[in-house]
Amino acid sequence: MAVMPRARRVLLIEDEPGLVLTLTDRLTSEGYDVGAASDGLSGLERATREPWDVILLDVMLPGANGFDVCRDLRQRGITTPIIMLTARGQVVDKVLGLKLGADDYLTKPFDMLELTARVEVQLRRASAAHSGTAPYHFGNISVDFRKAQVLKDGVELDLSAREFLLLKYFIEHREATLTRDELLNEVWGYHSMPSTRTVDVHVAWLRQKIEPNSRNPQYVLTVHGLGYKFVG
Ligand code: CA
Repeated sequence: MAVMPRARRVLLIEDEPGLVLTLTDRLTSEGYDVGAASDGLSGLERATREPWDVILLDVMLPGANGFDVCRDLRQRGITTPIIMLTARGQVVDKVLGLKLGADDYLTKPFDMLELTARVEVQLRRASAAHSGTAPYHFGNISVDFRKAQVLKDGVELDLSAREFLLLKYFIEHREATLTRDELLNEVWGYHSMPSTRTVDVHVAWLRQKIEPNSRNPQYVLTVHGLGYKFVG
């Protein structure tokens, strides 16, 4: 017997009950496994904790708006395609959404055929780029970028969001010498400018969690006078 492919999982973050019902019915009948959250915070929570193939994200939400949710997901290293649902005429919003890491947008009211077509486009793109989201292994550590999860000998490590982003940046730039200023800019972002000492403190915490011996690190190396280099 042929093995049935796993149902694709769509997370719907939307607060209009009627639209949630319509979209859930339609996507379910197309064979998708649909989850829903009706406000920004629970949407962020579900999007972070469970693996999804596509996220449909409304802009106007109670709790946190769709832009905040989108930005937070990307900052947490979640790379799941996001289609933003905007109200008619929010031209500026579209630009902002794409800037914050959304992959596409749909203007309400939209046709269901249009929606499912857009979802399929994102699924095809994601599977083409699948290697980028595959777990990364070094030593006894496994990093799942989709789930923002780090396992050591199969046991989940309790990394803070910042430690995870720091590790992700190291992995994406392995073998490169990274200065404290670059790490501050890329991992902490332009909006906050803590001192470079912050980088050292977070590197120390990260080492305690991922290194076999944090006093003699073998993955996150100090490059004296310059910064750090990841060699895992
Ligand atoms: Ca709404």
